Amino acid sequence: MDREYDAVVIGGGLLGCFAARALCRRKLRVALVEQREDVCTGISRANTAIVYAGYDTKPGTLKTRLSVQANREFGTLCGQLGVRFHRCGSLMVAFGPRGRESLTRKLEQGRINGVEGLRLLPREEVLALEPEPALSPDVEAALWCPQVGTVDPWELCLAAAENAVDNGAELLLNTRVTGLRREGEGYAVETDRGSIRCRGLVNCTGIRADQMAELIHRPTIRIVPTKGDYYVLDTGAGKKLRHVIFHEPEEKGKGLTMVPTVDGNVLLGPSEEEAEDREDTATQREGLEFLRRLAARVAPGIPLEETIRTFAAIRPNPYEALVNGETGEVTLSRKSIGEFMVTQVEECPGMVSMIGVKTPGLTCAALLGEHAAGLLQPWLGDPPPNPEFCPTRRRPVYTAELPPEELAALVRQDPAYGRVVCRCRMVTEGEVRDALRRTPGAVTLDGVKYRTGAGMGRCQGGVCTERILEIMARELGASPAEIAKGRRGSWLVKEGGDGPV
Ligand SMILES: Cc1cc2nc3c(=O)[nH]c(=O)nc-3n(C[C@H](O)[C@H](O)[C@H](O)COP(=O)(O)OP(=O)(O)OC[C@H]3O[C@@H](n4cnc5c(N)ncnc54)[C@H](O)[C@@H]3O)c2cc1C
Repeated sequence: MDREYDAVVIGGGLLGCFAARALCRRKLRVALVEQREDVCTGISRANTAIVYAGYDTKPGTLKTRLSVQANREFGTLCGQLGVRFHRCGSLMVAFGPRGRESLTRKLEQGRINGVEGLRLLPREEVLALEPEPALSPDVEAALWCPQVGTVDPWELCLAAAENAVDNGAELLLNTRVTGLRREGEGYAVETDRGSIRCRGLVNCTGIRADQMAELIHRPTIRIVPTKGDYYVLDTGAGKKLRHVIFHEPEEKGKGLTMVPTVDGNVLLGPSEEEAEDREDTATQREGLEFLRRLAARVAPGIPLEETIRTFAAIRPNPYEALVNGETGEVTLSRKSIGEFMVTQVEECPGMVSMIGVKTPGLTCAALLGEHAAGLLQPWLGDPPPNPEFCPTRRRPVYTAELPPEELAALVRQDPAYGRVVCRCRMVTEGEVRDALRRTPGAVTLDGVKYRTGAGMGRCQGGVCTERILEIMARELGASPAEIAKGRRGSWLVKEGGDGPV
């Protein structure tokens, strides 16, 4: 591989996919480079799925400005990309005087930030909005925000990637960036599949973004990873929760967050623990028990026994890197940086890095992408708008969403949409096949799961995995033994074996 582009985006998470999409608005040759076999396998894969409103961040910051704007525009964005978005509203609940004081401060801050519809509610009104069993009757007050919503992060990220590709971005999967160097007015991006030249560079490598930046320039920001555990509860529990619940603890420390997801599940978490390393996504008993204790106090009626899955997410906490001019030794600032870090350094003109973008990075991903693309334009010679840019993506077929007559007509045309593969989520063979044929298409079992929902229900793939592997083998022309769950090596069946690995 020896290629040349105007702009290269490194990292196929939410930030990278939206940055590539934003760059396609101008007449530019754009590449999106991702080390894994699919997009959305990093931080964007595992988070709390909330679309924030912007009342909980400091006035005047980029984070606040983008959050408020992104929230206002989120419905339009999801409409364009064919992505589900539920503006369910949120209650930030307090159980004592300190929590209540904090709600009052957040109400003031939210008003300064321009968030509309915020109200402080007394107990009776809180319980009228979110009655038992979701919320404990001991709740004292809540900050109501009608603007908060929830989205499926995979759906959003995949839609951004598809739309970027539809608009001309070249997606280079299985391509790991190993080196960066200045070359003339631009950059040489060394990968394990050869070299790429470009004029502008956007570093969106998530938990590795500091290391990527330091391939070419001095340390500016360093990431310290922590992780958070989550519970996913079955749809029966989902029927009991109407709003996103944020629990404002009485003491310093982490509260509980509960989300009624767009699929009707409940997401409960995250906790906060030290991470062994940047790839450490193993769940931890302490984290899950911490959540269980909090849930018993905040939402005793939420049935944790209906848990269908637990998972852990990794957080990229950014710290300022303080370099000793004499020894070159790097120490970190005492406090983690709260602001979004979209950085450029003098010695690397035409390179933008997004390092340590945590919550609400999902909410702001589209605007962060536009922001980064905007910063690059002068280095790319302010190219004219791309007259062919189309911001919309057609939503794939989800048979469970179709009215019976429409589904019957579709099945008459294509019987594969009538053959149910995943019974928990009612996903058909036609949808699995489509997931493999889209661009980017699924090449792993997880890829099918994120695109169709097959395997995400109560049985967690117990029933459908074998059938999906058969369809994948047929469509991809591969043996089931060559198909992984996710990362290479996570094989599901043995070649010539008589059962699962
Ligand atoms: C626990 C948690 C909960 C959150 N909850 C919310 C929420 O509810 N709402 C909200 O708005 N935000 C939330 N966020 C924030 C949001 O999820 C992130 O800001 C966003 O997903 C970050 O995406 P990213 O593209 O930076 O990273 P990633 O998704 O990690 O993408 C980085 C990509 O770079 C690739 N890569 C790395 N190194 C290389 C290399 N050398 N070569 C090629 N590719 C490479 C990786 O494989 C990966 O695909 C949460 C974050 C966390 C951690």
